Amino acid sequence: MALAAIDRGFVSLGFSSHARSRLETYSLSESGEAAYITEIDRLKKKHQGRLSIRLGIERDRFSHAERAPFEYVIGSAHFLPCPDGSMLGVDTAKDIVTEGIRLHFAGDGLRFSRAYYALLGDYISGYRPDIIGHFDLISKNNQQGELFNPDCREYVKAATEAMDEAVTGCSLLEVNTGAMARHGAPFPYPSLPLLKYWKALGGEVILSSDCHSAEWIDFGYDRAEEQIRRAGYKKAAILGRQEELFDWFELT
Ligand SMILES: [Zn+2]
Repeated sequence: MALAAIDRGFVSLGFSSHARSRLETYSLSESGEAAYITEIDRLKKKHQGRLSIRLGIERDRFSHAERAPFEYVIGSAHFLPCPDGSMLGVDTAKDIVTEGIRLHFAGDGLRFSRAYYALLGDYISGYRPDIIGHFDLISKNNQQGELFNPDCREYVKAATEAMDEAVTGCSLLEVNTGAMARHGAPFPYPSLPLLKYWKALGGEVILSSDCHSAEWIDFGYDRAEEQIRRAGYKKAAILGRQEELFDWFELT
């Protein structure tokens, strides 16, 4: 990852593994977290002067990880609690999400969307992470409108109300190209209408590839940068090269 970043001309690079949670198939274990911190520290020293490496973490709503060891935290939601006590992974395969909506939300994708956004808005406003991760993650399995209509008033209301609440806890939102590389999505998170709404709220943005693989480290950045401009932004955050956690990149 670090070598790929240097090769593509990056000046800074953040790592954000999934923070510890009870679902260890998805997140770091206790020993895994220690090894992760040690490894990022090694890379920081190795590439000092060439690439500013930052130790971050992506912390799910249901993670129990401590904040202290990390330079920054991306707050995000990947799971919804269901009435039977189970957790529905919203970031998982489409057939699992579809079945979960059928079982737990009476087959109503809009109800599912409302539950997701209510959870996310509440988490971000209360936890106050440094960055908000993949805001409309649930759009990943809805590229043809299979689960809900993203243009309908009720969906937009749920998403924008979550933004109203989230911005009180964190003003920096990821424009995330992860689903473009890994799931063939045409556009980054969040959708352009939501990004415009975020701009109107006074929120700022940072570009992220959420790539899981070095070959995709800047995947979709041209299109994402275009989306950021179309939303009206003249600058975006990047991870800082010196003391400051963030620097600002002028969009020319
Ligand atoms: Zn995530």
